[in-house]
Amino acid sequence: MTIDKQPSCADDSEPQLLPVDAAMARIANLVRPLATTETVSIADCLGRVLAQAVQSPIAVPSHTNSAMDGYAVRADDRDQAASTGLRVVGSAFAGRPWSGELQAGEAVRIFTGAVVPPGADTVIIQEHTELDVDTVRFASDFTPGQNIRHAGEDVAAGDRVFVGGEQMSPAHMCMLASLGINEVSVTRKPRVAFFSTGDELRAVSDPSSSPLNAGEVYDSNRYALLGALARMAVDTIDMGLVPDDPVAIRDTLERAGETADVVITSGGVSVGEADYVSKTLHDIGNVAFWKIAMRPGRPLACGKVGDAVFFGLPGNPVAVLVTFYEFVQPAVRRLMGCRDDGQPFRFRVPCTSALRKSSGRTEYQRGILYHDDDGQLAVKTTGKQGAGRLSSLCLANCIIVIPPNADAITPGSLVEVQPFTGLV
Ligand code: AMP
Ligand code: MG
Repeated sequence: MTIDKQPSCADDSEPQLLPVDAAMARIANLVRPLATTETVSIADCLGRVLAQAVQSPIAVPSHTNSAMDGYAVRADDRDQAASTGLRVVGSAFAGRPWSGELQAGEAVRIFTGAVVPPGADTVIIQEHTELDVDTVRFASDFTPGQNIRHAGEDVAAGDRVFVGGEQMSPAHMCMLASLGINEVSVTRKPRVAFFSTGDELRAVSDPSSSPLNAGEVYDSNRYALLGALARMAVDTIDMGLVPDDPVAIRDTLERAGETADVVITSGGVSVGEADYVSKTLHDIGNVAFWKIAMRPGRPLACGKVGDAVFFGLPGNPVAVLVTFYEFVQPAVRRLMGCRDDGQPFRFRVPCTSALRKSSGRTEYQRGILYHDDDGQLAVKTTGKQGAGRLSSLCLANCIIVIPPNADAITPGSLVEVQPFTGLV
């Protein structure tokens, strides 16, 4: 008797696998940026996305000022400065300008950030001068105009400093403050609801969960999602643990779809008897179930529950984080109105390990970026790559992305890496 085998995630090449890029394009199609905006203090704008462009109400710097401690002088006085010297007629401090106008033969003692007095066009740093009572001398081989920061040289009044859709970083917060802007209009925070599914799961916060009974595992996926979402400017709704029970799953999904903009589940999206997430979604939502040509993370359900965008992530914790970073994070950024496509930053480095690679799928292997003995950046593997091996993620500081058509990687060849820092 022969037994017909169904395609499975254990197969290297499987028909009808959706390439990663195609999955990303479909997800982008599903997500419409949120239309509601709100005004927030710049102190609270980290990670938020600007709803409109920002124009500068002022010039930065607002006054022409000194870049160094020294003397403000007229470049035309160079010969006198090098021979008899210039008369020091006053001092200009940051925030306390000198009120006069510099005349020929004069210098003003000046400190970093102080307004350059009218008449002066150059600052000579104090280390290059000699002071004798109230006469300062210095060599004539300086560059006229040196050590002066001109009003508006960073930003001119009326300049468009940021376009709508820019995500606020510490540098953006700093710039806004320097322009005297105290509040900005941003897209409202997306609400992201998530829960774990599985009869075997126990909550680590539940004292009765210890010790585990045979076959039980602690629900770790919710903490992966909590951590990943905490790095984004979103509101999270932790809906806990739901057993493999179609009624409970349906009820929780419906509630999540009513309150959230994004609903994320983990587990139960495969083809097993107890995999109710995709089945339930077919009944209540508008859901595509995809087998994605990737490893880890092959089964992924995606679609809509009510108005919310839905992601049914696989159960294995490594797959949860990989699919979160590849698909969910870009989708949430799109929802927030980010103008870039949210794709993580990647670059190529030599790989010093041999890596196995099965054909036909994009692989996301866990790697360690390091400096070799010559100080050159290289990457090595964290070791065995099973989707259940969480330790591989904790050791890693990057993902090594191997395209579907690539062969096994031999030591020394270039691979593409996606560092973990910079993911948010
Ligand atoms: P599933 O996709 O539901 O078949 O789950 C695949 C594997 O992931 C199984 O070994 C599950 O026990 C495990 N798993 C599912 N959900 C979680 C979770 N929340 N935390 C830890 N492991 C999980
Ligand atoms: Mg399960």
